Amino acid sequence: AIRVRFAPSPTGYLHIGGARTALFNYLYARSMGGTYLLRIEDTDTERSSQEMIEQILDSLSWLGLLPDEPYVLQSDNILAHQHAVDTLLNEDKAYRCFCTKEDLEAEKEKAARENRPYRYSGKCRNLTDQEIRENLDQKMPFTVRLKVPHEGVTRFKDMVFKSIEVQNSEIDDFIIMRSDKTPVYQLAVVVDDTLMGITHVIRGEDHLSNTPKQIHLYLALGYPVPRFAHVPLILAPDGKRLSKRHGATSVGEFRDMGFLPEGFINGLIHLGWGTSGNQTIYTLDELIRTFRITDVSKKGAIFDLQKMIWINGQHISGKPSTELFPWVTRAWLRAGLLSQDDIEDRKTYLHQAIDLLKTRMKLITDFVSFGSYVLKDPVSYDPEAVEKSWAHPKVQVLMNHYIKSLEALDPFDPENLEETLRHITNEAGEKAAVLIHAVRLAVTGFSVSPGLFELLSLLGKKVVIRRLKKAVD
Ligand code: GLU
Repeated sequence: AIRVRFAPSPTGYLHIGGARTALFNYLYARSMGGTYLLRIEDTDTERSSQEMIEQILDSLSWLGLLPDEPYVLQSDNILAHQHAVDTLLNEDKAYRCFCTKEDLEAEKEKAARENRPYRYSGKCRNLTDQEIRENLDQKMPFTVRLKVPHEGVTRFKDMVFKSIEVQNSEIDDFIIMRSDKTPVYQLAVVVDDTLMGITHVIRGEDHLSNTPKQIHLYLALGYPVPRFAHVPLILAPDGKRLSKRHGATSVGEFRDMGFLPEGFINGLIHLGWGTSGNQTIYTLDELIRTFRITDVSKKGAIFDLQKMIWINGQHISGKPSTELFPWVTRAWLRAGLLSQDDIEDRKTYLHQAIDLLKTRMKLITDFVSFGSYVLKDPVSYDPEAVEKSWAHPKVQVLMNHYIKSLEALDPFDPENLEETLRHITNEAGEKAAVLIHAVRLAVTGFSVSPGLFELLSLLGKKVVIRRLKKAVD
């Protein structure tokens, strides 16, 4: 059975790269009938925190990417890590290294002088039992290093990067346990993945160079080697690796910006994955049906915020108001445009308002920034539009005319509202657009809005006349 995992380190918020790795793992598991797991890699106690664990879980929950089983804490496996190191020592597949910091510094400097990449010399690889015993008796601190074969090649077929080959002579005897007995990442990850029964490791390209080392550990420990898929780096539009200085990178920031989880996920999927067709908008179910890890490209994926926002807008306009209702009312509530009571008392009205607005909204926060007029009178008017439409010499007269007719209008429905307006402009020998723009501005404060007559009908006679009167004042 297929088992995959997402393994974040709780040293910071869940960022866009982590979220995408979680998503690819999730989709792989769902599309293959496998299990999707979460392991919190908290062994770097200095940089890890409980708060970040909670933040990560919170972000995963918002995304709908919580694991299928309770999450695993790497620190709970410390004994297993130490046991694995003991086994390797006993089987002579690893050795104690008594080199001091200074010894290693000297090796590094030498390599730098000779202009070659640094690799541990293997100085302690062949200490005699006698020497080891003496060092231990003197309580000399030691790390543990894996005995990596000097000859041969390490090969694996990455599901994204295809055939990868590394000469073993290029891999040094890397440290698997520090002198304070804490395991290093390379060892912990191999032991944990084995304990969790992980069959496929899907993670960021930044780990590609770790994989040959980890394969040596799997082999030394006699564990089955999982399959690997490394997903490409996420790049900023300037071609550099995406980082804080390019703007929002944490999932929480995107949520606050007004993304829907589905819209955000649909944006993430395009960071490295695409089919040959040109479909852009996917529901989660469609993704589960279409996703193939082998369709992930190894080329760096360029992050494009505007495209993400556009995709999110497609999800907003495609959703029924029932699904948008909780997100939108929460945003309105937070902005002080609604009270908790309003949400109950004005339910029908709010649903209609959301349905009307949604076609123009790209982010949930747009319902606040560009849709508050369904809840309160505009307090300001787009100055450019004021200049353009209210300055028209006949607008005052036309607006007053419209107000008069609306007072008697019954029913106050879109057809009647439109017919009345066109009648007035026709009589005056003006284009309907002149009055439409002026009314829209008076009612919304903006030069664009969803269908004006539907909007007027929704707002109702009292509100519309009040706003028009204020505008002609
Ligand atoms: N904890 C590692 C990270 O945050 C991931 C390790 C892995 O997926 O193997 O980058």
